[in-house]
Amino acid sequence: MRYAVIGNPVKHSLSPVMHMAGFLASGIDASYEAITVPSGELDAYVQMLSEQYHGWNITYPYKEDMIKYLDDVSEEAQALGAVNTVKNERGKLYGYNTDGAGFVAAVQNAGFVPAGNRVAVIGAGGAARAVIYALAKEEAEITIVNRNQQKAGELARQIENKFGRPVNCVPFDKGEWMLSSGLIIQGTPIGMQDEPFPLVLEGIKEKVLAVDLIYKPLQTNFLKQAQNLGCRIMNGLEMLLYQGAYAWDIWFGRKAPVENMRKALYSALEKES
Ligand code: NAP
Repeated sequence: MRYAVIGNPVKHSLSPVMHMAGFLASGIDASYEAITVPSGELDAYVQMLSEQYHGWNITYPYKEDMIKYLDDVSEEAQALGAVNTVKNERGKLYGYNTDGAGFVAAVQNAGFVPAGNRVAVIGAGGAARAVIYALAKEEAEITIVNRNQQKAGELARQIENKFGRPVNCVPFDKGEWMLSSGLIIQGTPIGMQDEPFPLVLEGIKEKVLAVDLIYKPLQTNFLKQAQNLGCRIMNGLEMLLYQGAYAWDIWFGRKAPVENMRKALYSALEKES
């Protein structure tokens, strides 16, 4: 069996290391590669994948474009307009989005219960959308903290219409959300180049779970700040891990060996640094 992740750039993806460790631990005879799809060549690559691969993951910049090739798309992927996992059943292609569910599994594993609890999500891009959708499904009380208020407002209305629960929007600035949230998620790319996080998180409650969706670097300045203020912290590796684990449910109908996959992810990153 052959599996892959497609994207551009994708050469440094950790998905091959994670899934290959899982296959090895579970005795699944399969391969998993990272395939760079050059701009303008998605048509040809999807054709090739549907002939030769049993399933694949999709990363930047093809999560949205992939939808038009699929025979069926899960409700969540349809609502998000983005797919990160495809299953190929004898040439019929089924699309899913496991990013949000992966995020929720990661925070639940850290002891956070979304239902009825306040969550602040900083950012309203693709990753934040997936996280917000999944948290709303779990009945969390969500505040979106974003620079572009119109974009955040449109997302909030979409989520409200879907789940019938209010979603609050506030500017990208200090505010009451820092004091009242039990989970704070950094969902913007700020920190990928080790740049400082522009907001001072003072007032944030101790013991809050602070999560950055970024995993390179493993500890962003947002996480360093939160840790210094007494928060529990988590980087984006756990979301990556669990979105990959959910792909196993889809591809193989079985649970992924999460511990083996986690170990492989951390040791690959340690080797890189
Ligand atoms: P995106 O679609 O480009 O979204 C960017 C968001 O960040 C927008 O809401 C934007 O605000 C905000 N933003 C960007 N620069 C900002 C700045 N200087 N000040 C304030 N707000 C700023 O990006 P994405 O695909 O959602 O990815 C976001 C992060 O998530 C990336 O670091 C990516 O690596 C990470 N990620 C992690 C995983 C995982 O598995 N852990 C999965 C996917 C993505 P405006 O709306 O105001 O422009």
